[in-house]
Amino acid sequence: MPRSRTAEEILRRLVFLGGPTRAGSAVHVELIEAREAAYADWPEWADPLLVERLRASGVERPWSHQAEAAELLHAGRHTVLATGTASGKSAGYLLPALSRLLADAGGGAGGRARTDEAAAGLRPSGPPGPVGPVGPSSNTRRGPSAAARRASASSASSSGRGGTVLYLAPTKALAADQARRLRELDLPIPPAVCLDGDTSGEERRWIREHGAFVLSNPDMLHYSLLPDHRRWSSFLRRLTYVVIDECHGYRGVFGAHVAAVIRRLRRLCAHYGSDPVFALASATTADPGATAARLTGLQVAEVTEDGSPHGRLLFALWEPPLTDGRGELGAPTRRTAVAETATLLADLAGERVRTVAFVRSRRGAELVSVMAREDLARSGGSGEQIAAYRAGYLREERRALEAALQSGRLTAVAATNALELGMDIAGLDAVLLAGYPGTRASLWQQAGRAGRGGQESLAVLIARDDPLDTYLVHHPEALFGKPVEATVFDPGNPYVLWGHLCAAAAELPLRDKDLDLFGPGASALAAELGRSGWLRKRADGWFWTRPERAADLSDLRGMGGEPIRIIEADTGRLLGMADGGSAAGAVHPGAVYLHQGESYLVRDLDLDAAIALVEAKDPGYATYAREVAHVRIVDEERSEGWNTHCRVAYGTVAVTSQVVGYLKRDSRTGQVLGEEPLELPEHTLTTKAVWWTVTPAGLEDALLAAPDIPGAAHAAEHASIGLLPLFADCDRWDLGGLSAAEHPDTGLATVFVHDGLPGGAGFAERGFAKAKDWLTATMDAIRACECRTGCPSCVQSPKCGNGNEPLDKTGAIRLLEVLLRPN
Ligand SMILES: [Zn+2]
Ligand SMILES: [Zn+2]
Repeated sequence: MPRSRTAEEILRRLVFLGGPTRAGSAVHVELIEAREAAYADWPEWADPLLVERLRASGVERPWSHQAEAAELLHAGRHTVLATGTASGKSAGYLLPALSRLLADAGGGAGGRARTDEAAAGLRPSGPPGPVGPVGPSSNTRRGPSAAARRASASSASSSGRGGTVLYLAPTKALAADQARRLRELDLPIPPAVCLDGDTSGEERRWIREHGAFVLSNPDMLHYSLLPDHRRWSSFLRRLTYVVIDECHGYRGVFGAHVAAVIRRLRRLCAHYGSDPVFALASATTADPGATAARLTGLQVAEVTEDGSPHGRLLFALWEPPLTDGRGELGAPTRRTAVAETATLLADLAGERVRTVAFVRSRRGAELVSVMAREDLARSGGSGEQIAAYRAGYLREERRALEAALQSGRLTAVAATNALELGMDIAGLDAVLLAGYPGTRASLWQQAGRAGRGGQESLAVLIARDDPLDTYLVHHPEALFGKPVEATVFDPGNPYVLWGHLCAAAAELPLRDKDLDLFGPGASALAAELGRSGWLRKRADGWFWTRPERAADLSDLRGMGGEPIRIIEADTGRLLGMADGGSAAGAVHPGAVYLHQGESYLVRDLDLDAAIALVEAKDPGYATYAREVAHVRIVDEERSEGWNTHCRVAYGTVAVTSQVVGYLKRDSRTGQVLGEEPLELPEHTLTTKAVWWTVTPAGLEDALLAAPDIPGAAHAAEHASIGLLPLFADCDRWDLGGLSAAEHPDTGLATVFVHDGLPGGAGFAERGFAKAKDWLTATMDAIRACECRTGCPSCVQSPKCGNGNEPLDKTGAIRLLEVLLRPN
């Protein structure tokens, strides 16, 4: 272990080992100095027993942000806590929520005396029940635990006087994990229990009667708890806190669904007379307070000043060199992030620097480990030091790998991004990131894997050849400065909202004041649902009178449209679903489809039967569907003139698109292997778009002559799609675009960027809101690329339906200059 070496020395060595070609690769090196912890005192109102238990679990004193959030929540303010990974956000909401439950269980002021009582043996006997739904039933089997008996004896919760807490996580696993930790605190309150799809009827009854801290997910709320609210009335009436954990996970269409579910919950709480305080926990993003307000429909205070400590970190931004290879239309190609990561991993392993490399797909992770082993063996080292670490491994296999890494028998592993949370490895020296992982939250999660326990560490982000990664390595402030990426969704999306209005009406008749809760478009939407027979209007509101369950109309994780089932041809196994609208792009015949990091080849797509047949196969290349589209403006909702020549607008559009072929690129080298034509039917999507126009005089100012205009606009379109994920938490595949030298609806040179899902996901809207910053970044990204006439790092797009023709890189820069000119 090179404990004696500093991160700078390791980085210098890494650059040296690569010889002259590597000299310019570390485009930027950021030193993040160690940060001391900022502590606060335990709040005076915090329950002494809870404080004692938290101390016993290793929290000697709260960090400043934990105490700040706890105080706000205790004072009844809705609050979002948006601090770094591993900053102990849960203590911020557990302090007030559990203190409240303990006070209720102990009978108010008398609760203080209870501490000794609890210590004297009134705690739950034996170990807390296993994780998840077994909790309550194991209690039922053993008879109620001492804690539950105690809580019942105090007659607080069963008599309907004590408060309740509802905790929501995006996944079942996270809720189960939290429940386990809560039970480990061993407090004299009914045990924390999970309510999810696996919870039996008997367990649910127990939860309704005795549950005080209930952990669930939005899907469960939507399908079960809210439609069944009459049975849950006692729980809802006493609801004091609602915790929404990992709330940055609620984005795009999923975020819109969850926002509607929260509004339905709030309406029912009001009906039963409760007014719970909302506690939200988020990764660090731009504007967490505004996002939390959008999600809940409430004013939310934000806590963003992180008081947790971290070690010294050296963070290098790395751009792989251009190769002699030629890509599409002869464009220069960079060494792939996968190949570059493999070489760096081998070099670090050879230096005995303990390293993990994060790669997007399982195939990528395996490729990195195989190539790194070859590299290391070639330079005389032992390839045995390097392994792949992936989701498909059994738990025991993973633990064995972790132990080998811990003991030094293994020096380096390549892991999939999916494992960034589940890995149990402490104290690594270095982390490699093969490409920007898509969000800053993931970036810091991964980088934070090194240097645990305050020791210093090295992180290297290796750029992929796309515009976003190119921009990031040349604009470190986007990663290390204030966050610019926001979690976005559109709670007003009518394609999402209609099903929830029906579900809400089925729960309780919808009155006019209720509709206000669901946003400005809700009244008109309800009237339309009345006209089309979904809802029925009576004197006292809108009613659901149809026989089916209204909650079944919405699938929170669905994308809209009839989903395509993806089936393994040989086994008949259902692998997953693809959104009907975009299926042609994801599972067209010949597509390489990734499922949980595994690679499948699509044999056949039957759109009528809504089935795609696939076989497990890794052909060694990735595929990119090529799509052509037309855009029609349905409704311009907002617009802004930027100067005499240019306007930016936002609104509803109809996009008609068609997959016309696909491109194959070698997974190792990134070389284009060829293009296959396809003929799939057209598909029309009504969604949201942001677009900008330039007048003919503006084009003249940009020195653009007629033949250049389509190429300039097209190149600007591609790059701007690539850069929008910097501002909105989305992927470039969630977006589409179109450019025209003279669009029929505007009569001008126009560039559209639109959401890829029905009704819009909030991405285009965020693009409009941040248009100046976004398009400036687009221009900077194109300028920063050292290629001459355009490449995948700047203006070429792998999904271009026109084969990346025409593209005019210089013209795009001039066009954006005119657009961004103040006057
Ligand atoms: Zn380029
Ligand atoms: Zn294109």
